[in-house]
Amino acid sequence: MTKKELLRGLPKIDEVMKQESLVVLSEEKGDLLVTDAVRAVIAALRASILDLGEGEAEAFDASALEIGSVAEAAEARVFREEELNLYPLINATGTILHTNLGRAPLCRDAVENVARVSKGYSDLEYNVPKGKRGSRHDLVGDLIAELTGAEDAMVVNNNAAATMIVLATLGKGKEIVVSRGELVEIGGAFRIPDIMMQSGAFLQEVGTSNKTKASDYENAIVTRAMIEKGDLYNEDPRHSRRFETGALMKVHKSNYDIVGFTEEASLEELVAIGKKHSLPVIFDMGNGLMLDMSEFGLNEPNIPASLATGIDVMLFSGDKLLGGPQAGIIVGKKKYIKAMKKHPLARAMRVDKMTFAALEATLMKYKDRKTALRDIPVLRMISSSSEEMRKKAERLADAIKRTDPSISLEIVPVEDQIGGGSAPMVRLPGWAVSVKDGMKSADRTERKLRKADIPVVARINEDRLLLCVRTIADDEIETAAEALRKQ
Ligand SMILES: *Cc1c(COP(=O)(O)O)cnc(C)c1O
Repeated sequence: MTKKELLRGLPKIDEVMKQESLVVLSEEKGDLLVTDAVRAVIAALRASILDLGEGEAEAFDASALEIGSVAEAAEARVFREEELNLYPLINATGTILHTNLGRAPLCRDAVENVARVSKGYSDLEYNVPKGKRGSRHDLVGDLIAELTGAEDAMVVNNNAAATMIVLATLGKGKEIVVSRGELVEIGGAFRIPDIMMQSGAFLQEVGTSNKTKASDYENAIVTRAMIEKGDLYNEDPRHSRRFETGALMKVHKSNYDIVGFTEEASLEELVAIGKKHSLPVIFDMGNGLMLDMSEFGLNEPNIPASLATGIDVMLFSGDKLLGGPQAGIIVGKKKYIKAMKKHPLARAMRVDKMTFAALEATLMKYKDRKTALRDIPVLRMISSSSEEMRKKAERLADAIKRTDPSISLEIVPVEDQIGGGSAPMVRLPGWAVSVKDGMKSADRTERKLRKADIPVVARINEDRLLLCVRTIADDEIETAAEALRKQ
């Protein structure tokens, strides 16, 4: 057939819609959805015919133009479009807080609580005993206070939002003193100097990249009296005007380390300076680690210990080492938290009932250290022993052998990571199943794993495909093995 004949052979939408299968489908899904699918299939066929080169028209499979074939393709399209864009997958990279894969997985009770609370109505902003309006801010405040020793808490969308509202509340039109060694970029557009600018606060950098002393912060403080006394200028004429100091701020070096000839001021030192000058001290600690995890090789500051130094305002993420939903949690002295709750930005950054449901259930686990380490996936993955992980690797290898005995396997030691821009220097000794699928390259096997019904994201190391078991849940082992099945 010629191109012209093929185009003439394209069926009409109405004709295709009369097909029995589509009549039934239309009743279930609605006319519009099905008609759209038929239109799209015909348009795609037309485009591919027009795209045919000299002589290719003859070889074109004209059976694709038959009404039955078009109806079938349209039906498949309707079902394909029903598939959601956000779906679960298996993380076999060994990176626990994988930023691209949704950071912290939730614990089972958090997931169940989200479903329980969000399928109907809830007391999100209603005080049931009093029978009157309540505040969502009160939902987890007491629990966080009990767990951390903070006077009060506030929850916003993420730690970037928390930084923004803290700076806007305490630093608008004022200077915030930060060490040059802590002007962090967290990835994407989150950079401390940029957030500072957006908040209306003025960044006053002190110290050097490698060394900042407590006295550097103190020497940078500008009081109202100094401003009133006369013009105050910066050494750097590009930003010559000075403003009253609003706060001292420390930022945790989450995703980098400075080694060698270094010095930094401790939280205690900053708290002492803050007290002396009646200035609040802010600590952006980032990762939200609640427990001392040093026995597992994680020497990061934790929330209760940091707060115990007397820090006025501290902020961290909900979905890093806290192991909960995406959130930014601000804790500290009541008067500062109260001011933030009243700030106009609070409404723009508030979280919904699903976040509160997941967060409260996650936080409840922290009432007992053992429960938290056992039930919160992130903590469990960090605290798993090498022996446990080796056994998990053996179970995965057995499952793969049952799926396809021809695949060659090896159980190998690997170094896993915390990820999510946290504790970059920590390497957790783990185990992986190294896979060689016949003559297939590691790249090809990796692609095949990603195309499975439940995709598996693996690691490649020197043309070996590695399935790192630390981040594979026990109930995902069979599914992960299934992804390697011969097609
Ligand atoms: C991760 C991090 C942030 C950003 O937190 P998000 O929850 O990703 O918005 C800010 N500051 C520090 C120190 C961090 O580690």
